[in-house]
Amino acid sequence: MIQLLRGMKDILPPESGKWEELQHVAEEVFSSFGYGLSITPVVEKTELFVRSVGEDTDVVSKEMYTCKDRGDESITLRPEGTASIIRAYLSSPEWKSKLLKTWYWGPMFRYERPQKGRYRQFFQFGLEAIGTDSPHVDAELIYLLNHFYKKIGIDDARVEINSIGCPECRPAYKNDLVAFFMSKKEELCGDCKGRLDTNPLRLLDCKNPSCSSLLVGVPNIQKYLCNTCTTHNERLLKDLDKLKVVYNVNPNLVRGLDYYTRTVFEFVTDKLGGRQNALGGGGRYDVLSAQLGEKAVPSVGYAGGVERTIMLMSELEGSLNKIPVYVAMMDDETLETYLPLILELKKYSSEHNKIKSLVFVEDDFKSRDIKKHLSRADKSGAKFALIAGAYELRDGLLSIKDLTKKQETKIKVDLNDLKKTVHDICGRIFEEENS
Ligand code: AMP
Repeated sequence: MIQLLRGMKDILPPESGKWEELQHVAEEVFSSFGYGLSITPVVEKTELFVRSVGEDTDVVSKEMYTCKDRGDESITLRPEGTASIIRAYLSSPEWKSKLLKTWYWGPMFRYERPQKGRYRQFFQFGLEAIGTDSPHVDAELIYLLNHFYKKIGIDDARVEINSIGCPECRPAYKNDLVAFFMSKKEELCGDCKGRLDTNPLRLLDCKNPSCSSLLVGVPNIQKYLCNTCTTHNERLLKDLDKLKVVYNVNPNLVRGLDYYTRTVFEFVTDKLGGRQNALGGGGRYDVLSAQLGEKAVPSVGYAGGVERTIMLMSELEGSLNKIPVYVAMMDDETLETYLPLILELKKYSSEHNKIKSLVFVEDDFKSRDIKKHLSRADKSGAKFALIAGAYELRDGLLSIKDLTKKQETKIKVDLNDLKKTVHDICGRIFEEENS
């Protein structure tokens, strides 16, 4: 068999059900805050990422999937989503100079060392608010994400936040940071020795224990912020207090990509285990468009890892809202008579695919005796079975069996009013599920 590439992952049912659910909640929450969907290509000119993410970052210097196309152009599979969105914004006459609030979802590619929660193709959802420097937009974004993670059941997700200043105030901090680490150069890991020249801020979040142990007494960036950055930061934190979002100011929080200014933040959780505790990260990128040769457009955004979020959703089985249902028709006549009802039920369930919906498992449209059906239903993990045979058909009934509680109720079937019958069946199942 041809093997899957290292660091890549197939997602098949039933796991993909969680993906659908996450995407659905994302769509619902993000659009209700006024963020519209953007879809950009997964492949871009290499230069876009070199200029935006930064030549000296790990992502650009070590991790990109880059090749030449048949026209000898250097192209790259996107390692992140923001650069493409800002490129699309800047090249769209409709949006230029206006406020664009948008979200995206899709695969990203980084040639990293695969481990739990780290892949070479992984999915991110992201939000961007392009064209505003208001700290209230930073606050709205953090508030929205806090709500989103709670809604999908990750209630221990918390915010780590910092301000990393701007091109005005950051150079003085960088100088002092380099001076601080120069005296400890010999104790730094190989990567960090290099970062002293190329990207000193990244010394603050090196995951190597020998480097993190050197952080005692490291200069605090908050003390270097200019007035404008200080005011921005204070307003944001005041908003978060007012909005009752719990956060932790972490002066050592920096981000892996070069384009950030002022606000940086991460949503972290203790439940992921291992070294990867970040569900996602974001911040302001007021100078990114200038790095691309255009006028500066103040903006703020966030990217969340889908696989890591799904890993946590898997542990929260109880809060998932797809109810697996098994259809058990005991003879061909009943199966054929009830077929329109079963299909109407499936249609209704997808039309009403809000947060709670039915998902039909193992339905091969075969009649069997009840023992065989119930054994298949058990193996499939179904929570409910819809059962009918000659007896139910004769009296126009359908049994709804709660397979967990081992209780059965009967419902009247009106084949001339399928909508009403379907409504009654769903209502009964949701009711049972909540009781
Ligand atoms: P970043 O763009 O590096 O800030 O990443 C934002 C989020 O995407 C991280 O917090 C992770 O949740 C996720 N992520 C980044 N890289 C990977 C990867 N290689 N595999 C899986 N998830 C990732």
